[in-house]
Amino acid sequence: MYLPGMNMGIISKGAKCNVSGCNNDGIRSLNTSKVEDAGLRVSSSGKKTVLCKAHYKEWKKETKDDRSLERARYDKF
Ligand SMILES: [Zn+2]
Repeated sequence: MYLPGMNMGIISKGAKCNVSGCNNDGIRSLNTSKVEDAGLRVSSSGKKTVLCKAHYKEWKKETKDDRSLERARYDKF
């Protein structure tokens, strides 16, 4: 079965964000390790983690920004 968009990181409707404590609808699916590297805590059991709009934005910010910001973000939680 071919799932359009799956390889582009776009997920189908209905999946929820995998960040722990978040229950928003997911919009993107990323490698779990990449998400964790950005400092987000995920409760995904697989290699892929689903992110909602807000967390995807946050992930993008983290990956763009300097590494030193990672720690500052952590403290906010
Ligand atoms: Zn989320």
